[in-house]
Amino acid sequence: MGKTSIFKYTFEELETLLVEQGFNKFSAKQVFDWIYVKFETDFNNMTNLSKSLREFLSENYEAKPLNDLVVKESKDGTIKILFMLDDSRTIETVLMPQKYGQSVCVTTQVGCKMACKFCASGLIKTERNLESDEIVRQIFTMNKLLREKFKDDPENPSARVSHIVVMGIGEPMDNFENVMKFVNIVNDPKGFGIGARHITISTCGVVPKIKEFADLKTQINLAISLHASNNEVRNSMMPINRAFPIEKLLDSIRYYIDSTNRRVTFEYILIDDVNDRPEHAVELAKLIRGINGYVNLIPYNEVEENPYRKSNRIDEFFKILKKQGINAIVRKEFGADIDAACGQLRAKREGVLKNEI
Ligand code: SAH
Repeated sequence: MGKTSIFKYTFEELETLLVEQGFNKFSAKQVFDWIYVKFETDFNNMTNLSKSLREFLSENYEAKPLNDLVVKESKDGTIKILFMLDDSRTIETVLMPQKYGQSVCVTTQVGCKMACKFCASGLIKTERNLESDEIVRQIFTMNKLLREKFKDDPENPSARVSHIVVMGIGEPMDNFENVMKFVNIVNDPKGFGIGARHITISTCGVVPKIKEFADLKTQINLAISLHASNNEVRNSMMPINRAFPIEKLLDSIRYYIDSTNRRVTFEYILIDDVNDRPEHAVELAKLIRGINGYVNLIPYNEVEENPYRKSNRIDEFFKILKKQGINAIVRKEFGADIDAACGQLRAKREGVLKNEI
């Protein structure tokens, strides 16, 4: 049988494993340091480990980065990678250089079963959840690439991933355990040490999981793909709304805010003539008034296969929200020249979209 991925282990799990195998407790810290700080992927090169530990690890474990099939770099510095998993399925990960650091958008599932009508990911049928290590390896491999890019200036803050958005393909709340394990691993100060406040999980609104997430009382940011100001419009765009309509969703968000004292982000893609009319802006303001959050207006990224088109009322919508006293920002678009948005690169490769790469 194949070897087990070392990226599956939280620090505590690794410590338990090594102690059970009769190794020194302290060796878990050394292994974490070799992998997540020094980026060493060959256990035999981990020179301060005992020979027997090096042998044990090499025989049973592997520290493999993901295999990058296609790497595209945009004029704005965005890097998009199409990765091949060990079972030959493909996923994509995007790195966006921001003013405040390097932000990576990770994928959590191969395909997505939420079937939002506007989203390209729904065109790919869900094949499976990603394992926690496959999500960790997206960050590991991006970090390795950044180290390579900044090798003359390794102290440059841009040489490492500082922020993570769980907004790639897949519904994170539909793969909750693996996503939370991934967060635990990348958050660990003995490894990448990416702070919880620098991590954002975006969901289409799986209400019971939002509550479960709230109960964990982490400092991780929560973003909600709201996209509509009433149930009728939201039902037409997002099947999840039939299971968990807006009122239930907002209740779970209030519960999250009460439990964590954090504010939430409402994501709102603006689609021509579907959800972008002035009355929608007024309705949205009324809906979320009093909730500790702000609206992130997202220019719609057109997907050829569906009828939705970009709105040209973004400014108007934004101004109405402001006038209504709602905090809002318009999201900057990244990597438009390299299909860096929402499943397009992978979908093209799978031949779901018309154009070839
Ligand atoms: N399933 C999660 C996370 C993945 S989608 C969620 O629904 O939040 C990440 C964000 O991109 C969501 O807000 C989603 O609605 C949005 N999105 C999907 N397709 C898009 C497109 N074609 N243009 C712009 N945003 C899109």
